[in-house]
Amino acid sequence: MSIDPVRGVGTDSETRCVHYATESDVAALRFGCCETYYACFECHEAIAEHPPEPWPTARRGEPSVRCGVCGAEMTAATYTSSEACPACDAPFNPGCAEHYHRYFEWIDPDDGG
Ligand SMILES: [Zn+2]
Ligand SMILES: [Zn+2]
Ligand SMILES: [Zn+2]
Repeated sequence: MSIDPVRGVGTDSETRCVHYATESDVAALRFGCCETYYACFECHEAIAEHPPEPWPTARRGEPSVRCGVCGAEMTAATYTSSEACPACDAPFNPGCAEHYHRYFEWIDPDDGG
């Protein structure tokens, strides 16, 4: 495999981390600041030595989410409209929607999620 490893705190083989470790917490998110995949924003906070920046609006057409089960990359639009990985059918955690604004610049933090 030539893909970079996902960074995170205590990540398992399907990129769950110590913060989000349920069956469906398998998506890794890429950050605009360092173009690196992290298991979650708390992992970025713990490991990266710089403030987090969400994936920029100008690059929203580029893949910025990776499935931890099969390694498939997808755009934010695909991820946010999918209940499961389009490539391997691994279910995504619907609770992640509360955090989309931390990962995707163009999504507003609306109802206090
Ligand atoms: Zn970063
Ligand atoms: Zn984490
Ligand atoms: Zn997958």
